Amino acid sequence: MTKWVYSFSAERAEGHGEMKSLLGGKGANLHEMASLHLPVPPGFTITTEVCTYFYANGKTYPPDLAAQVNEAVAEVERQTGRGFGDAGNPLLLSVRSGARASMPGMMDTVLNLGLNDASVESLAKSSGDERFAYDSYRRFIQMYSNVVLDVDSHNFEDILEEYKNSKGHTLDTDLTAADWRSVIVEYKAKVAEAIGKPFPQDPRDQLWGAIGAVFSSWMNQRANTYRRLNSIPAEWGTAVNVQAMVFGNMGETSATGVAFTRNPSTGANDLYGEFLVNAQGEDVVAGIRTPQNITEAARKAAGSDRPSLETLMPEVFKQFAATTKLLEKHYRDMQDLEFTVERGKLWMLQTRNGKRTARAALRVAVEMANDGMITREEAITRVEPSALDQLLHPTLDPKAKPAPIATGLPASPGAASGEIVFSADEAAALRQAGRKSILVRVETSPEDIHGMHAAEGVVTTRGGMTSHAAVVARGMGKPCVSGAGAIRIDYAAQTMTASGITLKKGDILTIDGGAGQVMQGAVPMVKPEMTGDFLTLMGWADAIRRMKVRANAETATDARVARSFGAEGIGLCRTEHMFFEGERIVAVREMILADTEQGRRAALAKLLPMQRKDFAELFEIMTGLPVTIRLLDPPLHEFLPQTDEEIDEVAKAMGVSADKLRARSAELHEVNPMLGFRGVRLAIRYPEIAEMQARAIFEGAVEAGRKTGAPVTAEIMVPLVLGRPELDSVKAIIVAMAETVARETGVTVPYHVGTMIELPRAALRAGDIAKSAEFFSFGTNDLTQTTLGVSRDDAASFLGIYTVKGLLPSDPFVTIDAEGVGELVKIASERGRATRPDIKLGICGEHGGDPASITFCESVHLDYVSCSPFRIPIARLAAAQAALGRKAYSTA
Ligand code: PEP
Ligand code: MG
Repeated sequence: MTKWVYSFSAERAEGHGEMKSLLGGKGANLHEMASLHLPVPPGFTITTEVCTYFYANGKTYPPDLAAQVNEAVAEVERQTGRGFGDAGNPLLLSVRSGARASMPGMMDTVLNLGLNDASVESLAKSSGDERFAYDSYRRFIQMYSNVVLDVDSHNFEDILEEYKNSKGHTLDTDLTAADWRSVIVEYKAKVAEAIGKPFPQDPRDQLWGAIGAVFSSWMNQRANTYRRLNSIPAEWGTAVNVQAMVFGNMGETSATGVAFTRNPSTGANDLYGEFLVNAQGEDVVAGIRTPQNITEAARKAAGSDRPSLETLMPEVFKQFAATTKLLEKHYRDMQDLEFTVERGKLWMLQTRNGKRTARAALRVAVEMANDGMITREEAITRVEPSALDQLLHPTLDPKAKPAPIATGLPASPGAASGEIVFSADEAAALRQAGRKSILVRVETSPEDIHGMHAAEGVVTTRGGMTSHAAVVARGMGKPCVSGAGAIRIDYAAQTMTASGITLKKGDILTIDGGAGQVMQGAVPMVKPEMTGDFLTLMGWADAIRRMKVRANAETATDARVARSFGAEGIGLCRTEHMFFEGERIVAVREMILADTEQGRRAALAKLLPMQRKDFAELFEIMTGLPVTIRLLDPPLHEFLPQTDEEIDEVAKAMGVSADKLRARSAELHEVNPMLGFRGVRLAIRYPEIAEMQARAIFEGAVEAGRKTGAPVTAEIMVPLVLGRPELDSVKAIIVAMAETVARETGVTVPYHVGTMIELPRAALRAGDIAKSAEFFSFGTNDLTQTTLGVSRDDAASFLGIYTVKGLLPSDPFVTIDAEGVGELVKIASERGRATRPDIKLGICGEHGGDPASITFCESVHLDYVSCSPFRIPIARLAAAQAALGRKAYSTA
């Protein structure tokens, strides 16, 4: 018999923390806390296998599930001394989802289950608080109807609003028990009208309805979106956790809250959290009321005059603080906890490894390693490489920062500017149009997730550090200011007002998520600085990784940034990128469009001094490190003059008529330029181009060597070869030029000639090519394009659907297609090494900065990866994790 249901209580637990696949994250951790005898309300977990069964069998359950659930309910009855469906002494339950990976707020929850017309009376009696009992019942009717019966919440909100208006009340708290009773009558009538039968009164019917709704919510639209954005497979399924209710809303000695064992924004080792007196858990997460601080220290730091849990409930606080320490030590990681206090008794509802910003992830990892709680190797795996991106992004220039028009909580760090939008859909629309937006909302809900993703940053006027907006933004690495209460939003007028200034949709707003500030207009930003924990962790990563990390860079600015980020050389200098600007592009066009060798040489003579100077500068910046310069590889369509103005300009420079030039340009037009006259083909047809470039490289190296006193090793790379003959033909030009420059200058520059492997044929012919090539650099952009037969310029319109439909595991231009392109890389590496055992192998396609692809590179033992400067720290960390053979730990 399959075990579908696992029970837990502070007495015993049938599962444990390692059973996340089966019990989901929340379930596994509840079992783990229970096995530590922490105060967990008794309950049981229905496994993710039931979810799988549910979807495989037309939304039905395994036949023996009901019996197992009944048995588990009976156990909860025994533990609590209450009866499920016992009107006199009712057991009330919560029903929550819990997948293997946390998906905050994406799936459904039902609380107060088991309440009906009869048991509400008992609850009123036993709690001694009629208001509380009826309030709970109406909450239950609303939640259950919304989640299970598909009766939208706004129906109930409207009834309540109307009722309050009719009585002249403004707040829910103005309502008496009698008021709630009347509201409940209306609620039930609304349900009956909507579904054609009465609101279910039998607790067992309620329970199965809720279980079905939670399983069904695994496939709701927002859960699907969240899974797609976070690469969570749909096959995982969710578990369902059913637990005895505990009430944080039983008056002033009750409370509910959320806490982190360390600060999730900064990583500081201080208990950090928020709570609300007399409230249910959902109230804190939804951000409807602004919560209070847990510790005195945090209260003082926030300048709040509302008491902390520490002063309000000192005994509970002590027990809670000790529990948080115990859990952190037990899990050896920062925990994110939910708790409830019911009439002075603490209950732990959840613990999990806390989501955190990259800054916090670094600090927590480094401090835990320094404290001996984890090893350095573990610390390295505790930071998601791509999360470092958050730290590499600009912050506001403090010198130029204007006074904020509003302040809120620093919910997620980073700075961003954009046009004000008031809805998620508008943010998505602007993003589509290539425009930047700041999403401004009273509060956000899971329905807004696509807009949060599309916006540059998020501002909410309500909610705390653990509100939906804050948690989701932090996970996405998006700047967020939450609870900026001084902002008034008028959705109807599409305006926001703060500090007497009214801004409308489309006006520019800047936010500083690290400071919790909102500024009018665009504010200048400054580059990030890498210090402290960042350098420490990078140092540990560098000590462990095997692969070198180089930069794709061609300008002096990029090269300097790359070095400051720790680049160990340049892996790809795309020389055509050095010609994009000003008079240079004219000279390049002149060279391309010349129809005689003489004309071309005239243009090349103009380019030579520019190239020499550029190369000398790069060599100088990279003193002591290898610099790989690639010979010209211009897809012609990027360089041909397009407008009449451009044609006139080139015609003038060449001394020919515009018409003649237009005709020549038309002649060079290609149907398929990415597979056209580019790469080595250019040097084959016009050897004088390679000649000029080789001269510029060697002369630049001589110049840099003279200046720095250190010899330069130049690596000259030939792009897009099909096989050895092309390489040999160009290599001969390079070798001859090396001799010429040595003769002319009296300086012999050490150099290597290698090639890019970017065509399947080149990968297959690698054994032969290696006879001439001293190094290979895998150009996986082109190799992906040519292996998959997918144009890198046109893929966007159709490739997305492949990943959505699961036909490809991920975008092959982002993460290397290990099965296809990767196989060619492997073959080429093996064949290259067989010919030349010391051949140097690297990668310089975009994949060189992608953590998953870097893991692949380690598996085929490449010597280095090369990526854009801002991804260098990411690559250093990913290379270390790859060397450790461990996958990054997800903390974002
Ligand atoms: C490549 O093809 O992977 C490469 C690095 O070259 P480019 O992107 O310049 O074609
Ligand atoms: Mg290429």
